[in-house]
Amino acid sequence: MNPASHLLISWVVANTADIGRRDRVLVTLCGVVPDVDGAGLIAELLSENAASPLIWYSKYHHVLCHNLGFGLLLAAIVLVFSVRKWVTAMLALAAFHLHLLGDLVGSRGPDSYQWPIPYLFPFAADWQLTWDGQWALNAWPNILMTLCFLGITLYLAWKRGHSPVEIISPKADTIFVSKLRQRFGAP
Ligand SMILES: [Zn+2]
Repeated sequence: MNPASHLLISWVVANTADIGRRDRVLVTLCGVVPDVDGAGLIAELLSENAASPLIWYSKYHHVLCHNLGFGLLLAAIVLVFSVRKWVTAMLALAAFHLHLLGDLVGSRGPDSYQWPIPYLFPFAADWQLTWDGQWALNAWPNILMTLCFLGITLYLAWKRGHSPVEIISPKADTIFVSKLRQRFGAP
């Protein structure tokens, strides 16, 4: 799945409990951050024509940060930095696993590559998760799901007074929510 879908899903997960801004941001980030292992793409593209090209993207994307060990590491970090510690850490773990699930069901590449998920990496790197029914990254179920979660996100913003904009700026978020309420009336 693409990062925008992961962000919206994680945001909705963060809103299933009564937690504050800092905790919501932590949960949401845990649902998005696994894709940092795709950063090797830059090195791979830059070294494409080199004598010994770096294949960091092909080798590490969906590997380094898409496994249980990384999920537990994130949960431990959340436990340290959150306010409502255990609730937030559990939600972070849920958001992380929904990221893996989203990738498992809907991330088939244009070349039909399935991007298997080595859930037990590095302990049992050979054990990889794939699903026969996996659809493409840009297939309609992904688009439909993204629109649904966008709808829920906008509803929550209108109703509760905060949206994912608060991750970047609480001030901008207040403006965004007041625009929504101007348009759709007071909740
Ligand atoms: Zn991913």
